[in-house]
Amino acid sequence: MVPTITLNDGVRIPQLGFGVFQIDPGADTEQAVGKALEAGYRHIDTAQMYGNEESVGKAIAASGLARDELFVTTKLNNDRHGRDEAQKALEESLTALGLDHVDLYLIHWPLPQRDDYVETWRGLEQAKAAGRVRSIGVSNFQVAHLDRLAAETDTVPAVNQIELHPDFTQDELRAYHRDHGIATEAWSPIGQGGELLQLQEITALAEKYGKSAAQVVLRWHLQLGNIVFPKSATPARIEENLDVFGFELADDDVATLSALDAGNRLGPDPDEMN
Ligand code: NAD
Repeated sequence: MVPTITLNDGVRIPQLGFGVFQIDPGADTEQAVGKALEAGYRHIDTAQMYGNEESVGKAIAASGLARDELFVTTKLNNDRHGRDEAQKALEESLTALGLDHVDLYLIHWPLPQRDDYVETWRGLEQAKAAGRVRSIGVSNFQVAHLDRLAAETDTVPAVNQIELHPDFTQDELRAYHRDHGIATEAWSPIGQGGELLQLQEITALAEKYGKSAAQVVLRWHLQLGNIVFPKSATPARIEENLDVFGFELADDDVATLSALDAGNRLGPDPDEMN
């Protein structure tokens, strides 16, 4: 049901997955991930920072799904930068998840004032060579950070996971990604369920297509080629957010949504997060 995108290293990733930021570890995460897997999601996006890797792992084990049917992403915590430290942190994530490899491992934030993301990236390259991760990528990297990886290392990130929604469209980074073979992953794809979903342009399209505002926005991402993993702990919404493959937005409606760009960043500025 969910299409896959082929990354620059040949690995295929389901274009839509399930995000677990701010879902409490324990029963909440186990239930939400269990529900998502039951509904048909096969791609889970977690992070060491979220504190719920162990619960994600339990839900995966309880699902009985074969490992090769699942795509699991986790991310390096900000206090674990460094070539050796990154590999140690990945081992801890694998233990928590109960897995012998993850499909995608990301540097969560570049932390430019620390000036060690290039060295950290070399640690991810080594983890990939050791078979502990199938694909490596970055998150919250700006053009300058991607340029440095290109100049100083041998591996182009498979993805860059960035904040992206119709009122924050990240045109410069998306163009850079397209030119350099980096897939765009959009975090907070539905604007954290806030004011974005109330915008008149979006509610009008929801009415036109007979879909929810969240479904219209997710459809916009998919048609642009973005990889998304909306988060919800509510069973009905978990199903709703996956039910976005039975309709298509007209090109001018995609353009209407893209024109909502207003630079409305919800999260931290990566250049200032240290
Ligand atoms: P999101 O845009 O996915 O919004 C989630 C919120 O929207 C939910 O908490 C709920 O309140 C609401 N919602 C969910 N489904 C809805 C629906 N159908 N209709 C109306 N409201 C709905 O925001 P997010 O959780 O911040 O982002 C998604 C995922 O991206 C995260 O879970 C995480 O995996 C990832 N992420 C990564 C970073 C990063 O720095 N790399 C940062 C933030 C999030």
